Amino acid sequence: MNLLETPIEYLKGVGPQRGDLLRKEMNIHKYGDLINLYPNRYIDRTRYFKINQLVNSNSEVQIVGKVVHIKTIDQGKGKSRLVATFLDDTGQMELVWFQGQKWVKESLKLNTVYVIFGKVTQFGSVFNMAHPEMELLEEHKTALRSAMQPVYPSTEKLNNKGVTNKVINKMMMQLFSETHQLFSETLPASIMEELKLIPKKDALVNIHFPKNQELLAKAQFRLKFEELFFIQLQLITKNLIRKHKIKGFPFEIIGENFNDFYNNHLPFELTNAQKRVLKEIRNDLGSHAQMNRLLQGDVGSGKTIVALMCMLIAKDNGFQSCLMAPTEILANQHYNGISELAKDLNINIRILTGSTKIAQRRIIHEELENGTLDIIIGTHALLEDKVQFKNLGLAVIDEQHRFGVEQRSKLWTKSEIPPHVLVMTATPIPRTLAMSLYGDLDISVIDELPPGRKPIQTVHRFDSKRLVVWKFLKDEIAKGRQIYIVYPLIQESEKMDYKDLMDGYESISRDFPLPHYSISILHGKMKPADKDEEMKRFAEGKTNIMVATTVIEVGVNVPNASVMVIESAERFGLSQLHQLRGRVGRGAEQSYCILMTDYKLSEDSKTRMETMVRTNDGFEIAEVDLKLRGPGDIMGKQQSGVLNLQIADLVKDRDILQVARHLAVKLLKEDPSMNLPEHAKLKEVFLEISKKKSIWNYIS
Ligand code: ADP
Ligand code: MG
Repeated sequence: MNLLETPIEYLKGVGPQRGDLLRKEMNIHKYGDLINLYPNRYIDRTRYFKINQLVNSNSEVQIVGKVVHIKTIDQGKGKSRLVATFLDDTGQMELVWFQGQKWVKESLKLNTVYVIFGKVTQFGSVFNMAHPEMELLEEHKTALRSAMQPVYPSTEKLNNKGVTNKVINKMMMQLFSETHQLFSETLPASIMEELKLIPKKDALVNIHFPKNQELLAKAQFRLKFEELFFIQLQLITKNLIRKHKIKGFPFEIIGENFNDFYNNHLPFELTNAQKRVLKEIRNDLGSHAQMNRLLQGDVGSGKTIVALMCMLIAKDNGFQSCLMAPTEILANQHYNGISELAKDLNINIRILTGSTKIAQRRIIHEELENGTLDIIIGTHALLEDKVQFKNLGLAVIDEQHRFGVEQRSKLWTKSEIPPHVLVMTATPIPRTLAMSLYGDLDISVIDELPPGRKPIQTVHRFDSKRLVVWKFLKDEIAKGRQIYIVYPLIQESEKMDYKDLMDGYESISRDFPLPHYSISILHGKMKPADKDEEMKRFAEGKTNIMVATTVIEVGVNVPNASVMVIESAERFGLSQLHQLRGRVGRGAEQSYCILMTDYKLSEDSKTRMETMVRTNDGFEIAEVDLKLRGPGDIMGKQQSGVLNLQIADLVKDRDILQVARHLAVKLLKEDPSMNLPEHAKLKEVFLEISKKKSIWNYIS
């Protein structure tokens, strides 16, 4: 049997109890799992501090000195702490214990030289260290340890039950002495050579017991690469399998509807990016494989018309399509926009949302089932069991990040073989991230805005400048423009320091009085019918100002609206700010985005404001966002958590990811099934990993 498969409790120093803890707390079941527990960081124990060198930096330091005095201090309520005075030749400090006081008091030797290690904090002029690690200088000199001490991930429970970092360290040493010879190389020689990687065996030794910084760096690179490389192999393989095995409806005809629209009813010339993307999609649709494509395009880049044209292809081939949007407002807008675009074509389009009346629903259900309904546009309501299609051939999903995985996959059950899927998103996902998260998805990008758009001018203003801003708004309104003012909250927050929507609405009503100005309001707690009504009034130009919460974040399209004021802008994330800004700049006029904030801003908030002012490029913004927040936040826990990375970091290790991607593509091109003898070990590991953790299916 493979020794690495040995249950963890058999390791010397573990036993049943600790084994149980490791399983429950760290998901470590076997020897092999422990080896793959990589340190979070390393402590440099080559350096010794003097007490007069200490600064209040909350960092861990190592000091040589003596305990000269020890006393118990009563803290009341039956509690006490143990305080020792610790000296070196430059000064004195305190060591403090709250737990295990009896044991410390009995075993601590006064006036004997110790090496202490731990975090220092400063109270007044006195530094202290709570629960220091202590070692007699004599022992310290002879102790076998590497200069870079690993710090392993842990949990409170592990620590409380005595499985400290030191203990895990010992387990690791024991493990290595038993298994050291067993680690065989997992990567093919060609890649090892190309990237000058160190062997797996050396990498594992040096990740746990680094001899020096340089070897540690090499070990990290090697293991990160390996991790990302196997993920890429999985994703790419999955994609290849889908293309070969999952049959799709062959949309071979580009027929009457598409051609008529393309030749006679296009309201504008398509951008080159739109044309390119259409071509990519048409190739997929005609390929006999199921399409699973992500269409990325910044706000206003013109994804809707692309979606419509795909749906026309479906119709030409005798299939129905659906378009699902995350909100009712957006579904309505798509419905209106698409109906308008297609008004001269003979196709049947309807909308289904939560507020569709029963009588209307009946008609829709019937027409979907008998096939007379060509395009259904709607919200989650489309997913209800009652909605059955005669032959759903294409599902378009707008703003994918709002839908959960299960929700999307529900569309699957609505036809015998999976329909083609086009997921549209205006949240630009940096390519590197998209590659690792959606590696099994094909990606199209509309990277060009329709011509004639003037870049939106963005400014950042403090609340103290409100009067100047209001004056500007009045000037714009006088020119016939319309304005959005967006608030982060619907009701007053407990902490009173944020502008509340209703407060704002009242004060705006005062500052922009009737009959000269008229104001709409829109928020999540309104009834759908009222929302639509308000939206309609604004869209028709009956009101000048739309005061709203983020319900208008996605998709809303009112070309005459040219100013977006975002209140308490510091409370919004970058992608949200960018989405909101995308509501303006849709017409021919110069548009503006005004970010209003408090004077006091955190560093992150400042970066967000500066980024917004500096650029309109959604991808650049997404990169900054990624740096500020990390991929987990951006993609939602579920999505990034699925990758469950042990050592690599999607943000910091993007360069490695790129290399891994490139080499994985190359390898699979040459040897798609990894059958070459030099790939034997690779395949073995690949199959093992695939069995263990299946990479999240984008739509499965
Ligand atoms: P988004 O990609 O944000 O969904 P839309 O599809 O709503 O963008 O398009 C934004 C606006 O740009 C719409 O008013 C649409 O009619 C217009 N538009 C789209 N493509 C073009 C084009 N090629 N030329 C001019 N205007 C276009
Ligand atoms: Mg859109």
